[in-house]
Amino acid sequence: MSAIPSPADLSIDFIIVGGGIGGLAVAYVLSKAGHRVKVLEKNDLSIPGGGHRVTPNFSKILRQWIGEEELKKISVRCIGSPSFNLRDGEVVGYLAWQPAVLAETGGDFILMHHKDIIDILFKLATEAGATVELHKEVTAVQPGTDEGNKPSVTLASGEVLTADIIVGADGCKSLVREVVLEAEDCPEPGGMTLYSGVINAEDMVGDPDLEPFILSDEWAIGMGPGRSMCGHPVVGTSHRTSKKQYAFHIYSWNNLDGLPQGGEENWEELYPTENLNILAYGTAVQKAIKLTTNLVRTQWKVRRKIEEWVDATGRIVLLGDAAHPSFPGGTHGSSMAVEDAVVLGSLFSHLSIMDQIPSFLDAYQELRQRRCDLVKGADVANARMVTLPDGPEAVKRDSDMRGRNDDWGDEGALKAQFEEIAEIFVYDAGDAAEEWWVNWGRFSTTAREQPNMMNFFSGITMLPS
Ligand SMILES: Cc1cc2nc3c(=O)[nH]c(=O)nc-3n(C[C@H](O)[C@H](O)[C@H](O)COP(=O)(O)OP(=O)(O)OC[C@H]3O[C@@H](n4cnc5c(N)ncnc54)[C@H](O)[C@@H]3O)c2cc1C
Repeated sequence: MSAIPSPADLSIDFIIVGGGIGGLAVAYVLSKAGHRVKVLEKNDLSIPGGGHRVTPNFSKILRQWIGEEELKKISVRCIGSPSFNLRDGEVVGYLAWQPAVLAETGGDFILMHHKDIIDILFKLATEAGATVELHKEVTAVQPGTDEGNKPSVTLASGEVLTADIIVGADGCKSLVREVVLEAEDCPEPGGMTLYSGVINAEDMVGDPDLEPFILSDEWAIGMGPGRSMCGHPVVGTSHRTSKKQYAFHIYSWNNLDGLPQGGEENWEELYPTENLNILAYGTAVQKAIKLTTNLVRTQWKVRRKIEEWVDATGRIVLLGDAAHPSFPGGTHGSSMAVEDAVVLGSLFSHLSIMDQIPSFLDAYQELRQRRCDLVKGADVANARMVTLPDGPEAVKRDSDMRGRNDDWGDEGALKAQFEEIAEIFVYDAGDAAEEWWVNWGRFSTTAREQPNMMNFFSGITMLPS
């Protein structure tokens, strides 16, 4: 199924709060679905961020949006994932991302820079007709009223803008989420601080400890008690200096690591590298960290799961981290936001009457909520698994990983693992939305448009026996 919707019969106005990956992606698909879309982003789009593992369920969407050739120019195809001991560098396991196996998922496993994803989504959204306004901070959101007033947002400048639907794509610390919740969001520290860096390839080449990392197109995973690391090459494009760069995340848990916990819950705080105590890390990781003067520091905060992604008036809806805050530096946060966007855009490509809006928003939540919970659970479980304290559990993990150093054979040790990840990778967001439309959505529209038929059937069931 296509991740590019066709224009709807009825066009309506959307305001998207937040121009991150989720906000720009939904701006693109809703514009392609023929709607009038305005994105309000409080920053500009120059905050670089770091690396993303773009899983097959996400890469197949990007491939449809920009084509195979363009995608190749801004991504590195991930060939495998070595797991190694962070202290001594010993490789304990290797998962090969074989093309034949990935072909079953319909996508590829690729590695990209955050800024490149933002740049392509911005281009797609604006070329499709969306207006993206930068330095426009939303300070309040007002739901619509029964008297027919539309929902509105107030900007820091005092300007008030209305729309038929407001989409909260404003990230973990979402303001729109509090309006939907009708309560203050009270996040708790999640016990993990993330330090992210991006280094230039030329600084790694020639160093025997670092060269293998930049020369192999792998997503490497370093494991240790209370700490882990993941790193991979990314393509450097015109806005950066080198042809190839290396993006890495250091995950430091519950002070077990000795690194200071804290920082803000955003991707804007630069933390001086020299302030980090990195003696517990192996030589290669220490060298890599020292190649940066600053790291981006982000703190994980845990929020309660919310049951409703749509407000009581049925015109304000959450998407991406605003709906289901992800684990910073996790593997699936960006893919879940983009899948949300495809599902919402696909549903609204069938809009022909305003009465369909509640059923579309209900369907969006129903289609997305369980999947996002499942995928986030897997992300956090993996993150904990690679930071187990020394002891029998860590020993068992390492021995399991050593035993997996074989092919994805039909009956091989990796078959079970593939089946587990296939559920995440095979998913097609466009198909999920279209299946709902074919099986349910189009009939409810028909019923509404043919009131006599509806009365006829309800009349039969209401007859006294
Ligand atoms: C600058 C940046 C860099 C990142 N880099 C990485 C990375 O390297 N690796 C990684 O794994 N993840 C990174 N992330 C997180 C990752 O992109 C998200 O977890 C995931 O893609 C879900 O995206 P989202 O659009 O739901 O939320 P976000 O990416 O958080 O986007 C939310 C957007 O809303 C804007 N916003 C918030 N409040 C308001 C408001 N009141 N008014 C207007 N705009 C508002 C924010 O400025 C932001 O641009 C980064 C996020 C950001 C914002």
